[in-house]
Amino acid sequence: MSDGRILLVEDEAALSRGLSDALRARGFEVEVASDGQQGLDSALSGRADLILLDVMLPKVNGYEICRAVRARGVDVPILMLTARGQEQDVILGLELGADDYITKPFRLGELVARARAFLRRRQGERAVSRFGECEIDLRARTVLRGGRAVDLTAKEFALLAYFAARPGCALSRDTILDAVWGSSVFVTPRSIDRCVATLRAKIEPDPHNPTYIQTLRDIGYRFDPDASAPGHKDHEDESATKATKVTKLL
Ligand code: CA
Repeated sequence: MSDGRILLVEDEAALSRGLSDALRARGFEVEVASDGQQGLDSALSGRADLILLDVMLPKVNGYEICRAVRARGVDVPILMLTARGQEQDVILGLELGADDYITKPFRLGELVARARAFLRRRQGERAVSRFGECEIDLRARTVLRGGRAVDLTAKEFALLAYFAARPGCALSRDTILDAVWGSSVFVTPRSIDRCVATLRAKIEPDPHNPTYIQTLRDIGYRFDPDASAPGHKDHEDESATKATKVTKLL
């Protein structure tokens, strides 16, 4: 049994080879597509548990792949590989159905950690989810922190539940606003920021240096339930030389 099947859609041969070798070495089964058409066909086959998707691709670009995959009802997680400084591209990709993005050049450890989080999520959503010392019970609508009840407003709970159902996903402010606030007239993206701030104060170990609800500059937020106290980000990075090798290829 592999750790999961990843479809890598990437037209740069050196990057594709480096990344697929590194992912296979870490226990994943990897299928490689070197152009958009091949990527789309493989994505629609439904074989993959996760798609790593480059945006600029020959024949069919990454956005069209996202759109087509979602239009066909395939709900596989999609992680976009994007260039630095392309916030508008990221937002468009998220609107078309991608779940998250990672900016090139990235560290292999970070990519593997994200991939594992998506593959775990795929194994089923639960009524009770945990992160750090907190526990959310979606049916009872309660949150415990270190075993003690946390007093959340209805909006804070709705926002946290929304985040918890989408671990590891980059969520734009507009998407959050539509989903959690709906069509209320008197809300703006700033309402989200204020609600996030009060929520962080109640659940984050250090609200000014948040661990779980991360800010994505110019985009929105990402909830990372697997994050923990300082140092966690490096635990996948035991192979520093390999990570450097991959980064050089990007
Ligand atoms: Ca490309």
